[in-house]
Amino acid sequence: MTAEIITIGDELLIGQVVDTNSSWMAAELEKEGFRTRWITSVGDAEEDLLAAVAGALQRVEVVLTTGGLGPTPDDVTMDALCRFFESDRHFSEAIHAQIQDLFLRSEREMNPLTRRQAVVPDRAKPIPNPAGTAPGLWFERNGKVLVALPGVPEEMKRMMQKEVIPRLRQAFGQDVYVRHRTFWVTGLSESALALKLEGFEAGLPSGVKLAYLPREGLVRLRLSACCPSEEEALGQIAEQQEKLAQLLGRPLPGEDDKPPNLLLGEALLAKKWKMGTAESCTGGALAAAITSAPGSSRYYAGGVVSYANEVKCGVLGVAEALMGRFGAVSREVVEQMALGALRTLNCDCAVATSGIAGPEGGTAEKPVGMVWIAVASRDGRMASRCFRFGSILREVNIARAVNAAFVLLLELVSGKES
Ligand code: ATP
Ligand code: MG
Repeated sequence: MTAEIITIGDELLIGQVVDTNSSWMAAELEKEGFRTRWITSVGDAEEDLLAAVAGALQRVEVVLTTGGLGPTPDDVTMDALCRFFESDRHFSEAIHAQIQDLFLRSEREMNPLTRRQAVVPDRAKPIPNPAGTAPGLWFERNGKVLVALPGVPEEMKRMMQKEVIPRLRQAFGQDVYVRHRTFWVTGLSESALALKLEGFEAGLPSGVKLAYLPREGLVRLRLSACCPSEEEALGQIAEQQEKLAQLLGRPLPGEDDKPPNLLLGEALLAKKWKMGTAESCTGGALAAAITSAPGSSRYYAGGVVSYANEVKCGVLGVAEALMGRFGAVSREVVEQMALGALRTLNCDCAVATSGIAGPEGGTAEKPVGMVWIAVASRDGRMASRCFRFGSILREVNIARAVNAAFVLLLELVSGKES
């Protein structure tokens, strides 16, 4: 079952409004087993909309449009669709009564423009819109369906959930179930990861796919399974997840498609753990990212911004001899920083960063973008990794280090306790 979404409005084309309708609708359609093949945005121009609708109905079985159903002259969806489906219009008493109801509830008077909203195409089944004046329109032709919905996101969503999805289910049934699971991986670039997983990908059963979505210092891996039943799809994903974790030799934090800082918060709450931070090159950016999540006081003890070496030694207890021998940007020092944070902040786990954010200060041995990150837990586990984020931009290296630190700590928190 294939679908296409057309969002309508000049505001989308001049960058005034971001088209959030189509991404929301695509996610809903996918849950129902529809594969969205195209998403198009067109302006308030009847000819353009006609061309988009004609193309879409050739390509797919279900076309959903949003926007341009209102009563103002710039709303052209109704005219375009009546032309396309060669439909006359009539005044619907039932829709008129619904709109009147809405106006009575908000103590507003109907005017000739709002009254016009009750004029609907003969060839469409109207879809009630209890939250607004523009009814939706359901057209059918040659076994294909076009549904026009208003542009206001809240109205559109409500109508999708209450009316459109149930009607689509009835019209098409569901023959495939698509399920996803998403994981965060750090320490490997997208291409290095793809090379490592070449064999795994080639051996995936039909219907199961792997996607790479890179993001500041991380790669988001998405496993998708398309199967005849939900159980099979979830089973396939669980099986491949197991193989992936073994191949990568580390736990795969994620599953829900959430950013790493929120996942980390949830993992800490589940364990009733508090975390602490010892930051050098990230300069408090980690602490800021953690505390940007509401409720973070339940799992964040606090942090030390140990920018100067004297603070690393004086406050966090890093041995001066280590500092002299290996330098601040080293495995030895960053591990001591993490252990120092555990002690000083009296927390269950801690993460430490030390690196060269740039743009100056790099050497051949320790180039700009090189960052050591260590994580340690009170139960005696520790892990550290050297990242080469490689940007000449300071803020990019910092953002990448923050994300990588979250995932490294998340791996520790979700890994097995010793
Ligand atoms: P109404 O009769 O309620 O005006 P309509 O179908 O005419 O419904 P539009 O006028 O096209 O809807 O859009 C109303 C508002 O909804 C826009 O001003 C915009 O803020 C928002 N909107 C429209 N399309 C989208 C979209 N694709 N994504 C997010 N918001 C949208
Ligand atoms: Mg409008």
